[in-house]
Amino acid sequence: MIRVAINGYGTIGRRVARAVSLQDDMIVTGIVKTKPDYVSMVASKDFKIFVPDKSFEKAFQDAGIKVEGTFENLIDDSEIVVDATPEGQGEKNKEMYVNRKIKAIFEGGEEPEIAQASFNAYSNFEEARSKDYVRVVSCNTTALARTLHPIRERFGIKFVDATIVRRATDPNDSKKGPINAVEPSLSIPSHHAPDLKTVMAGLNVSTVAIKAPTTLMHVHAVRVELEKKASKNDIIEAWRGYRRIMEVGKNSGITSTGQMMDLAREFGRDRSDLYEIAVWSQSVSVDGNHVSYIQAVHQESDVVPENVDAIRSMFDTADRERSISMTDGKLRIEKRVF
Ligand code: NAD
Repeated sequence: MIRVAINGYGTIGRRVARAVSLQDDMIVTGIVKTKPDYVSMVASKDFKIFVPDKSFEKAFQDAGIKVEGTFENLIDDSEIVVDATPEGQGEKNKEMYVNRKIKAIFEGGEEPEIAQASFNAYSNFEEARSKDYVRVVSCNTTALARTLHPIRERFGIKFVDATIVRRATDPNDSKKGPINAVEPSLSIPSHHAPDLKTVMAGLNVSTVAIKAPTTLMHVHAVRVELEKKASKNDIIEAWRGYRRIMEVGKNSGITSTGQMMDLAREFGRDRSDLYEIAVWSQSVSVDGNHVSYIQAVHQESDVVPENVDAIRSMFDTADRERSISMTDGKLRIEKRVF
């Protein structure tokens, strides 16, 4: 059993904690919380709660939530930390992980240089093997790597041009916006293109990012110049071997992210998450050597399976296929075509 500590129990941390606890080969030793809020109140039923340092203890005691100790105590009882603290905090925490000689996974909000390898299960599982510090790339980068990897394997890629319509913020966040504006990122390529290259070495790619007033999902419009010609069916067939890519067809009646997340609710999975990248099969179109498609990305959950796989790669306990199968089995990710 790999002993996993979760530092930062927010959107990503709480989902990774749950996913780890479902696996047969790893356990959650505890989670680190800074505030005794509703999330701590619920989490205290499932996980041992630790605080960053002793100064945080009193607030939890006052709220009647049992604290098991400090983060340092949790590290003593763990073999790896999944650091899902807010962007930039992971960098500050790294010194402690190095000093305490504990492995750590960082998330996509950190710079690639924080880790020895960036990670996506489909495109570069092997690069995290036996490493001490790995970064699971962001939700958008994970989504692009998922659907581009099978295309690159089968047909080769000369160039990718992707437009990313980003959700403004997550559903539990009432502070950020925009709430009534569309906000393009004015630097082209956006940071997603160089990030994608960290898990798909040598890929020739450009990205444009535009924030939209929604919290549900991101939507990507992707155009790929192929090395070898392929038909629409060839492309869809290439994705069929990958459970973490879901196909949504015309008859499903899914025409927006609203229905896409409603479909996820029908699955009845934890937190109504949609771990798969959903591609609208109707959108797949081929023009000479170019293929275009549109996909939807549940930003809160698509990186969760990758965190579990990154742990196995770092401990060298399973190869790519076996780890992905184990993770998918426990998260109820199966090949779904609608
Ligand atoms: P979040 O704000 O939802 O959660 C972060 C949690 O960490 C909060 O509960 C916060 O209270 C806690 N925290 C703050 N400082 C802490 C500290 N010093 N020690 C322990 N806990 C602390 O953030 P998130 O959205 O889960 O993002 C975490 C990481 O995952 C970031 O790198 C982000 O870029 C990345 N990521 C986020 C998304 C997304 O859509 N939310 C998707 C993929 C990757």
